[in-house]
Amino acid sequence: MRTVAILGLGASGMAAARLALSRGDDVHVSDLETDAQARARGADLGALGADVELGSHDVARIAGADVVVVSPGIPPHAPVLRELRARGVRWISEPELAARVFDGALIAVTGTNGKTTTALLVHHLLEAAGIDAAVGGNVGGGHAPAASELATDRPGAAWWVLELSSYQLAAIDTLAPDVGVLTNLAPDHLDRYESVEAYWADKARMFDNASDRSVWVLNGDQPEVEALAGNAPGRRYRFTAGPTAGSAAWIEDGVLVLDVGEGAETLVSTDAIPLLGRHNHVNALCAALAARLAGASVAAIREGLRTAEPLPHRLEAVGEFDGVLWVNDSKATNVASAVSAVESLRRPLVLLLGGTDKGESMDPLAGALDRARSRLRAVVTYGAAGPRIARDLTARASALPLHRVDGGLDAAVALARTLARPGDAIVLAPAASSFDEFENYAERGARFAALARAEAA
Ligand code: ADP
Repeated sequence: MRTVAILGLGASGMAAARLALSRGDDVHVSDLETDAQARARGADLGALGADVELGSHDVARIAGADVVVVSPGIPPHAPVLRELRARGVRWISEPELAARVFDGALIAVTGTNGKTTTALLVHHLLEAAGIDAAVGGNVGGGHAPAASELATDRPGAAWWVLELSSYQLAAIDTLAPDVGVLTNLAPDHLDRYESVEAYWADKARMFDNASDRSVWVLNGDQPEVEALAGNAPGRRYRFTAGPTAGSAAWIEDGVLVLDVGEGAETLVSTDAIPLLGRHNHVNALCAALAARLAGASVAAIREGLRTAEPLPHRLEAVGEFDGVLWVNDSKATNVASAVSAVESLRRPLVLLLGGTDKGESMDPLAGALDRARSRLRAVVTYGAAGPRIARDLTARASALPLHRVDGGLDAAVALARTLARPGDAIVLAPAASSFDEFENYAERGARFAALARAEAA
């Protein structure tokens, strides 16, 4: 019997444990938490036959397992990982465990921003084409299951679309996408990585097991994406925001066009896609390219793009009250996504920035705010990261209409509503994570939406 040690009792650890148990493995799960949720989860797995350890990690036992699975929530410098490293133990991530038992075709989606939107769109387009596909992985907000949950499903789908984070890619071994998608690269997660390069290097692991049969869908507007792919074998297809030599997918005069070697194929106009923002049109383009390469017909892709659904917390229009549009982009937890929010909306903006600092440079945001100056009603900084964001922005962009709130999101919203005029948009695209006040970005977005709706009442 194979022994499998699983570190971490989060959603992905639970899914990995259930998968291993379903395959008859001898499973040991450990987590430092001992709270009610951990105990309930431990009891669930215990009832299925797992040996559950709460409050500690038995390193000797873990080191002796045939397979060690580490959850992404455990930071690389956690003592247990240091000890395992010192013993020469190698571990894998949960999608690697799942991919080992999957014999269908795999589309992997990674990148700094747009992973969830793109992965869900690819899945939607494949479904529109009648292709048997399931979506999962790191998909946030409970929109899709962990890869191991897909692997437990019987019968399995012919195609998997998996969103993979850098943390998950960091610990793959044999996982080899048939179609690998890299949406874009920008700085992020500097609270966890020593440098932007170290963060991107984990994403580059997607190319580790490339072969001549691999197909790559790459952002052709970013030289750093091509550099990250290096000399990985396989066929490369690039998507670009505009018509560009060598591009396989582009937007021309407001229309999405593909060319995968069978001549130009016109898809739909950007107006027909029910998602806000230029970056989402590029996500749609990227998804269309990946779906086409997986065998979806042009007609099905057209239909799928027209019926795409906007996701909550991602440039989501909550509603318009007294002429003011409220936009919840709580998932804009890094600078690049906040920049795309600023560039996406045509209305005068009241922009809310704050949360927990991840240490990124604010320079690109200062540049975007400078360019949007003529329609910038106000920038409101708040929360733990507020002072640092305000300081960095004023150092880079002069005479911003900047308001510093010495409080949390509620106080920032209260000020924003006094600043906004009819025709404006109040946008939460905070460029920071939410943990100073909230459990996660979804809870923050829900609070913002509730405050917006209170306006209507
Ligand atoms: P991820 O799964 O990579 O975090 P999401 O689709 O959840 O991506 O979007 C996260 C944030 O990034 C949202 O604020 C969204 O509006 C923004 N975003 C989505 N796609 C892009 C893109 N291609 N470029 C820049 N920002 C984007």
